[in-house]
Amino acid sequence: MQVYQGKSVFGGVAIGKISVYRKGEQQVKRVRVEDTTGELTRYQEAKQEAIRQLGDLYKKAVKEVGEANAAIFEIHQMMLEDEGYNESVTNIIKTQSVNAEYAVAATSDNYSQMFAAMDDEYMRERAADVKDVSERILSALGGGTRSVVNTEEPVIILADDLAPSETVQLDKSRVLSFVTVHGSVNSHTAILARTMSIPALIGTEIPLDDTIDGRIAVVDGNRGLIYVEPDEKTLEEMKEVQKREKEKAELLQELKGRENVTLDGKKIMLYANIGNIKDLAMVVQNDGGGIGLFRSEFIYLESKDYPTEEEQFKIYKTVAETMAGKRVIIRTLDIGADKQCDYFHMEHEENPALGLRAIRICLTQPEIFKTQLRALFRASAYGNISIMYPMITGVEEVRRIKKIVEEVKAELVAQNLEFGNPDQGIMIETPAAVMMSDVLAEEADFFSIGTNDLTQYTLAIDRQNLKLDSFYDAHHPAVLRMIQMVVDNAHKAGIWAGICGELGADTTLTKEFLAMGVDELSVSPGSILPIRKIILETDVDAYKEGKPC
Ligand code: PEP
Ligand code: MG
Repeated sequence: MQVYQGKSVFGGVAIGKISVYRKGEQQVKRVRVEDTTGELTRYQEAKQEAIRQLGDLYKKAVKEVGEANAAIFEIHQMMLEDEGYNESVTNIIKTQSVNAEYAVAATSDNYSQMFAAMDDEYMRERAADVKDVSERILSALGGGTRSVVNTEEPVIILADDLAPSETVQLDKSRVLSFVTVHGSVNSHTAILARTMSIPALIGTEIPLDDTIDGRIAVVDGNRGLIYVEPDEKTLEEMKEVQKREKEKAELLQELKGRENVTLDGKKIMLYANIGNIKDLAMVVQNDGGGIGLFRSEFIYLESKDYPTEEEQFKIYKTVAETMAGKRVIIRTLDIGADKQCDYFHMEHEENPALGLRAIRICLTQPEIFKTQLRALFRASAYGNISIMYPMITGVEEVRRIKKIVEEVKAELVAQNLEFGNPDQGIMIETPAAVMMSDVLAEEADFFSIGTNDLTQYTLAIDRQNLKLDSFYDAHHPAVLRMIQMVVDNAHKAGIWAGICGELGADTTLTKEFLAMGVDELSVSPGSILPIRKIILETDVDAYKEGKPC
């Protein structure tokens, strides 16, 4: 047994095989296609081929192992005929104009996640079947298996670090845990692990070679350790921890459907952060009251070229419709810094975090911004969409945004295109925005505090630099005072203020946030129920008076 220490960014225990991720290896690619009818035909043909193969397997199995044991192949055939599954694949091809492989992989991920989260054990086991039949269609499509995760079973991904553009390609239903050599607590991999609620380690000194690929390992996200080829005793201990955590998670499920209200009657909105349409399943499973942050830049990162208005419109509309009237806050693109897109052709910058990113790109290239705004405004006619602008520093930027918004609305009117009236909020993630929050509150419908960047810019600490993690103190009194100031200024102007940075999910601060009057917390889906539990058990007034609560 070898043991390596890393830094935990999400707890829990994962047991499985290691799959070493090497740059350049890709899974099923999302490719835009013109000829969607051709793609639909390819899908139908591949499906028929898969059904034929399963028929052959059934006949062979009946002879060899008897009818009862062969039934699985019949069930798989039936799954391929499932109306919902087929509709999902064809819908993705048609609405997103993408290749059949991607549509099958995305449907497989969604369905298997959904089954895996069901209470009924029999249904949970169907998750593996969905993946199996999807894999069969994928190979019939000529795509073969997905290379990063070479095996059928889910694996522990071991990588140097994963760029956002790489993680968007991963088949997430096959990832048990992330372990990286580099990265930081605020890196995208860490945020993704939290979204997926799987254990993850960063800064782990572990060899990334063939000697470790495929070995059995245990990731202990609670202690920041990875055991490669664990001994019997460790394996048993870790299985026990895993079992207890599962029981705890099951208990939390009982909180589904409950209001987020404290013992003394204070309510708070508890929303989810997502980066992708696929994350919606996790939001629904964890009873998210809405989406507090949809990082729309991931649509750009997944594309080979600027996503069109139509492509974006369909995605935003799907999210709004899926959330069925619950609030969906979509942040306009936050490209730049660590989120680089080749086709943006960004020039090299000495300090990308302080460079041309987010709203600065939108204001310097309004045609890109307008495409997104048109899609957002149009989609807002189909649900409860709000728009949120990142990296604001002052009121001048907001006025420039509003001017562009008015132009967009006028164009939509002129074209007779339907659109809604979304709330428009501001991310408070620069110290300048905090200091101007009294004035900004007059210009916005809501505030959402991005504590990841706010901490970086307030403490002058690069959030991507692992070596600075010990200095990156999101509990720093300067940050907490800023949050209080923003909340107070929001309330004075009659608007609400929430937190969508990672700090919002810090359960050691939940009571403090309630006492501060924070109106909304937007967190990774897996953090919703643990936070709800604290809210339900808190008496805010007693907490403020320092009484036990
Ligand atoms: C933040 O900065 O806190 C935030 C939510 O945005 P991102 O992490 O995407 O920069
Ligand atoms: Mg930010």
